[in-house]
Amino acid sequence: MLVFTAVILLGLWFAQIVLFGNFHYWNIKNRMTENAYRLAIDIGDESFEEKIERAAEDGEACIVIYRIEGDIATVVYDYEESPACIVHHLDSAIVSEISEHASEDGGLLQIRLSELLREMGGEEQKPPETDRLLTALVVTEGSEKYMLFLDAAIFPVESTVSTLRYQLIYISIGLLLIATLLSAILSMYISAPIEHITEKSKRLPKGEYKKEKHLRSYREIEELSDTLAHAADEISKVDRLQKELIANISHDLRTPLTMIIGYGEVMRDIEGENTPENVQVIIDEAKRLSGLVNDLLEISRIQGGDVERRDEIFDFSALMRETVERYRRLKENSGFVFEDSIEDGITVKADKSKLLQVVYNLINNAVNYSESSLKVQLRLYKDGDKMHLDVIDFGVGIPPEDIENIWQRYYKVDKVHRRSNLGSGLGLSIVREILELHGARYGVQSTLGKGSTFWFELPLYDAASDRLLLD
Ligand code: ADP
Repeated sequence: MLVFTAVILLGLWFAQIVLFGNFHYWNIKNRMTENAYRLAIDIGDESFEEKIERAAEDGEACIVIYRIEGDIATVVYDYEESPACIVHHLDSAIVSEISEHASEDGGLLQIRLSELLREMGGEEQKPPETDRLLTALVVTEGSEKYMLFLDAAIFPVESTVSTLRYQLIYISIGLLLIATLLSAILSMYISAPIEHITEKSKRLPKGEYKKEKHLRSYREIEELSDTLAHAADEISKVDRLQKELIANISHDLRTPLTMIIGYGEVMRDIEGENTPENVQVIIDEAKRLSGLVNDLLEISRIQGGDVERRDEIFDFSALMRETVERYRRLKENSGFVFEDSIEDGITVKADKSKLLQVVYNLINNAVNYSESSLKVQLRLYKDGDKMHLDVIDFGVGIPPEDIENIWQRYYKVDKVHRRSNLGSGLGLSIVREILELHGARYGVQSTLGKGSTFWFELPLYDAASDRLLLD
C-alpha cells in the first residue's frame, strides 16, 4: 500500500515539477503551429480578418501577416493582442531574414525571443522578463509570398511550479498518512485474522482443538474462521470417539480372549471340566470376537471407499421371512419373541448381501437394547411405489440429545462399558453407508425407556420401467 502510494506520488512529482515547464512550452508550440497552418489555408478569404482575430484571441497571440517581395516585407494584416508583443516592432530586415530562415526550414520557423535577441545582439542582450515564442510560417498563394508571424507569451512556470511543489508536499504527507492508516486497518482486519486462522490450522494436526475467540474482521474472514472452528470441533469429536473406541475395543477384545484362554486352561488342567457348556462359552466368546473383527473390517472397507453395489432383483418378503425364522431359532431358548407382519410380493433391485447386513444390524441392535422386554417386531409393507421396513423394539430407547449422533462412527450412547453391550459403535454407521449407497430414506423414532423404531424405504422393483430403461 505504501509502495503503491509512493510510486503514484513520485509520478506526480515528476510530471508536475520536473516536466511542467517542458509541457507548457510544448503546448504553446503546438497551438501556435496549428493556428499558423489553419490561417495559412484561409489567406485571402473574405472573412480572413475575422479569422485572424479569433485565432489571436484563442491563442492569446499577436498576429502579423507580411507580403514578402524580395527583401521587402509589407504588413498586410496586423492584430495586436497584447502590448507586450514584439512582432509589431521588428524591423523589416529582421523580418525578411526570418522569412528566409523559415523558407530554408521548410516554411516553418519557431524561435524563442530570448534566443532571437541573443543571435541578434550577442551575449550582452538582456533577456526579456517574459519570454515569447515567435512562429513564422511562409506560404505561397498564387504568385504571392506571405509570411504569417505569430507571437505568444511563454509564461514563466517557476512560480506555478513552486505553488505546485507546496501543494504536492501537503498532498504527499496526507496521502502517506492515509496509506499508513489504511495499511494498519487492513492488516488489523484482514492480515492479522488470517494469520491467526493459519496458526490455528497448523495446530490442528497436533491435536489442539481449543476454541478461541476470533479476531474481529470482515464477514468472509469471520466465516472462514467459523468454518475452521466447526471443522476443529468435528475433528475433535471424531478424535474423542476414536479414542473411546480404541479403549472399548481393547476391552472388548481382551474380555473374550481372557475368557477363551481361562476356560481353555481349566478344561485342559482340571478333569471333568471338559463339558459341552464350557466349550459353548469358548464358542460364544470366539463368535463375539469374530463379530467385532467383521464390523471393523467392514467399516475400514467403507472408509477406504471400496464399496460397490452388486444389484440383483430379489424377493425382499422372502428374505425377511427367512431372517425372522433364523432369529427365532437362534433365540429359541431365551424367551425372545419375534413378531412379524410381512406383506407378500415385495420385489426390489438392490445389493442383497448388503441389505441383509442392514437388517441384521438393526435386528441385533433391537435385541441388544431390548433389556427385559424380550420382544422385537418386524413390519414390511408396500407404501405407494416404495417398500417400508420397521424394526421395532420395546427396550431402553435413545435419549433425544443422542439421536442425531447414533449414526456416526464409533458413537455409543452408553459410554461406560458394560458386558451386556458388546457393540463396537459401528453397526449403525455401516447401516447408514449402505442405505445411502442405495439412495434409501431411513430414520429412527425413539422414546427413552419405551423403545425405538428403526426404519428404511426402498423403491419397489418395477419391471416395466426397468425394461424401458434398458431399451
Ligand atoms: P453398537 O455396536 O454400540 O450397537 P451402533 O452403531 O449399532 O453401535 O449403535 C450406536 C448406538 O446407538 C448404540 O451404542 C446404542 O447406544 C444406540 N442404539 C442403537 N440401536 C438402538 C436401539 N434399538 N435401542 C436403543 N439404543 C440403540
